[in-house]
Amino acid sequence: MKAERPPERPPGFTYRSDKRIVRASQFTMHADDVSLAMLAERYGTPLYVYSASAIRERYQEFERAFQGCEHTVCYSVKANSNLSILRLLSRMGAGFDIVSGGELHRIAEISRKSAAKTVFSGVGKLAGEIDLALSTGILMFNVESASELDLLAARAAHLRKRARFAVRANPDVTAETHPYISTGLHEHKFGVPWRDAGELYRLGDSFPYLKAAGVSVHIGSQITEVGPFRESMERVASLVRSLRADHHDIRYVDAGGGLGIVYEPNAAIGFAKLARQYAQALLGPLKSLGVHLLLEPGRAIVGPAGVLVTRVIYRKRNEGKQFVVVDAAMTDLLRPSLYDAYHEIVPVVLGADSSAAEKVDVVGPVCETGDFFAHGRQLRVVGEGDLLAILDTGAYGMVLASNYNSRMRPAEVLVDGARSRLVRKRESLRDLLAPERI
Ligand code: PLP
Repeated sequence: MKAERPPERPPGFTYRSDKRIVRASQFTMHADDVSLAMLAERYGTPLYVYSASAIRERYQEFERAFQGCEHTVCYSVKANSNLSILRLLSRMGAGFDIVSGGELHRIAEISRKSAAKTVFSGVGKLAGEIDLALSTGILMFNVESASELDLLAARAAHLRKRARFAVRANPDVTAETHPYISTGLHEHKFGVPWRDAGELYRLGDSFPYLKAAGVSVHIGSQITEVGPFRESMERVASLVRSLRADHHDIRYVDAGGGLGIVYEPNAAIGFAKLARQYAQALLGPLKSLGVHLLLEPGRAIVGPAGVLVTRVIYRKRNEGKQFVVVDAAMTDLLRPSLYDAYHEIVPVVLGADSSAAEKVDVVGPVCETGDFFAHGRQLRVVGEGDLLAILDTGAYGMVLASNYNSRMRPAEVLVDGARSRLVRKRESLRDLLAPERI
């Protein structure tokens, strides 16, 4: 069977003729202007490669979509927390959404100023993390329970630091996504029930060091229909009105993150258009409230800006089934194992003679049947030693990597135009054993 031409992800990842390869008919996947084959040779595999131009473009799409309204894009650090990516976004003016003291530490590392544009979400904030955030001077705490509000009040009074807070209210909105990343229903652990929110604002404003400043929601992740966002903003707008009537000075609405990306081959809609629809869905209900809108996108900014480059170790056939065993595993990219997530897999080098396709399972070396990247996938025929690129792995890729099976986590490279930089070195055997004692 003949293969279709594999997909690309412009502007970050495109096939170009490779000057180092003499055969003119050969094309190599590039990150910006740098060949992935060259990067694999230099840094080894498995290797995460990110495109700075793709990150910039996505961030700017958000900025353009919301340009008519006072807003801050608070990039969600959990999606990809590499310091160089955080610095790139901070230099473009981004704020940040964090969920731990560790993530706040990363923000402090890249820019003191960014803390003032940082919101702190999460259901289990520890006293030490709250103290760190109070002394760093973050923009706002998104509080998720009455107990957390009490602790925040106590720590703020102890440190004599004023804290702005929003209550993360649960809008009970259904969003079409994987159940593990749906968060906006009353049965989920996140936020507080809508009807309890008013009471928490009254309680919060009664503490001397706390100030009610916003309303926050987050309905889930990888949502590609904008209807649920509009529905939840309609609820938020009415809550803002009733809180203001109750004399709370609500200035911020934090809409959370969750805008999805298209992982499958044929994108029905371009991102710029989706971002505009998303902006309309959020801004419509908020019109006339004069709030400062906070957005917490993660995946939509970095997802398509990264690929995982891996090398084929073996081909093997079990009965009728063809396996392609690669050197990346679920320890490097967990999404397929965790969510049965789909990622396009393409050959790094496209030769003139490589147009035949076959149905294969692409699997890693870890001792788990769940260690796979694709089942029964139609792929161009690849041989042992060939390179593959797993697309759209810039978000929830490296951040979920682990040392299971005593594997070392991969290296990360950031490409910007013709420049490439190692932004995290590959773990060594020494790194692997360093925290342990006998
Ligand atoms: N904000 C909050 C509170 C989240 O829990 C998440 C993800 O789970 C995000 C933002 C980022 O979501 P996404 O990467 O889908 O934009």
